[in-house]
Amino acid sequence: MGRFRRAITAVMLCLLMMSGAHAPAAQTSSLETLPQTLNYCIDPDWMPYEAIIDGEHQGMSADYRKLLFKGLPETRLLSTSSWSDTLKRAKQGHCHIVLMLNKTDARSQYLEFSDVYLRAANVLVSRFELPVIGSLSAAKNYRVGAVEGYRISEYIQTHYPEIDFVPVASEDEGLRQVEHGELDVYVGSMYLVNNRIQKQGLTNLRIVGWTRFDDALRVGVVPEYSYLLSRINQNIQQLTEQHHIDIYQRWNHIKPYNKTDHDLVWQISLPLVLLIFFLAYRYRLLGQYNERLSATNAELQALRAKLEDRNKELSYLSVHDPLTGLYNRTQVIVAASEQVKLKSRDVNDCSIVLLDIDDFKQLNDQFGHNTGDKVLKELSELLEEQAREVDVVGRWGGEEFILLCPGTNISNARFVAFRLKQEINNFTFSAVPDLTCSFGVSELHKGESFDAWLERADQALYKAKAQGKNCVCLAEDDADRLS
Ligand code: GH3
Ligand code: MG
Ligand code: MG
Repeated sequence: MGRFRRAITAVMLCLLMMSGAHAPAAQTSSLETLPQTLNYCIDPDWMPYEAIIDGEHQGMSADYRKLLFKGLPETRLLSTSSWSDTLKRAKQGHCHIVLMLNKTDARSQYLEFSDVYLRAANVLVSRFELPVIGSLSAAKNYRVGAVEGYRISEYIQTHYPEIDFVPVASEDEGLRQVEHGELDVYVGSMYLVNNRIQKQGLTNLRIVGWTRFDDALRVGVVPEYSYLLSRINQNIQQLTEQHHIDIYQRWNHIKPYNKTDHDLVWQISLPLVLLIFFLAYRYRLLGQYNERLSATNAELQALRAKLEDRNKELSYLSVHDPLTGLYNRTQVIVAASEQVKLKSRDVNDCSIVLLDIDDFKQLNDQFGHNTGDKVLKELSELLEEQAREVDVVGRWGGEEFILLCPGTNISNARFVAFRLKQEINNFTFSAVPDLTCSFGVSELHKGESFDAWLERADQALYKAKAQGKNCVCLAEDDADRLS
């Protein structure tokens, strides 16, 4: 639209330049007979050409007046209420000069005319969705409007009777009807149309064609003062291209304005902005989701670590004695069963050393249960220190311990038991004075069950107790074999 307006401006300026060429040769004047003050009239409502606003003469003709009335006596604006009022006053002789009007036969009855000093094409205006029509001869199938009483209305009706002509009350009304689809085309002065489209922001309208009918604007003077025309025509001849350009620009608010570009910016930027908002929203949701997921993962990992610790604890407890940390009875049985299998194939010797703390009940009674526990732990550590890697040291129950010694016959087992007895006797327990243990030792016989093997060790231990404690006894069969 902005580009189109610039094109209009250029065309109009060309027409303005052309208008200067129509001035006739200067005539001689006799200004002596002029009255002191001349009344001049304009159309009170015809912007940007001219108008009376707050009693002041405004518009292009106000500027032209300063140039065209040079050398004339003082002139005074005679206010009129409408264009027809202006013409009526001119007819009556009250308006001595009419500043800007087209020459018609009717007007020539009571006015004489200067040369043309301003030309403006009449243009066809339509909405954007309608095609470029070009000229009135191509507008036959359209509803075409123009202001009733304007020369252009008569022109259309006279020369294009086949056009569906609709008279309208004013330029504004005509343009409004086109905008609302009540008219297809409005025909009016290019200056005025351009001015209205700019001022009212009718951005869906555009000029779609030109009429052959130009406004050729002149100064009209009542016959009584027709001799003023020679001076006015001289002044018209003095008008330069720059005068026309300045006046046009001053009253037509030429400014760069590009609605389409704004639309384009919005068409591109709005979806982009929406997309950015959508992505930001999704990103935020994803962030929140990830945060929650990370928190849940951390919780799960903590739980899993706890569970693993608990499992380790449970699996430890399932094979260890909680007080001493030695293997428990169950684990000793598992290890012993393995040895029983090996022995059945005669692969390996294995012996048991069973030991029981002497008079432990008494120790508990004397020093307290906690001290008793402490003794149990210290003895366990000592046993573990003394045992070999392959030996299995377990708490058989209460204050009774077992050493499962793979690869050990009764002779070696007896040696192990003696050594243990010696070590215990030499050991200084932190909370009690002397501590002794009794030992029962048995070697696994081929084909013997664990229970029978253990029973024989137990019998030997019983014998050690019976013999006065703090001693080692071998199971009977084993002792016989040894001796
Ligand atoms: P003996 O020399 O004949 O073996 O006599 P003893 O007193 O050692 O044997 P007895 O069977 O009469 O008593 C065993 C004591 O061991 C009784 C019990 O309170 C104590 N005892 C068993 N388990 C624990 C334990 O885990 N901690 C403590 N402090 N005492 C225990
Ligand atoms: Mg006991
Ligand atoms: Mg005991």
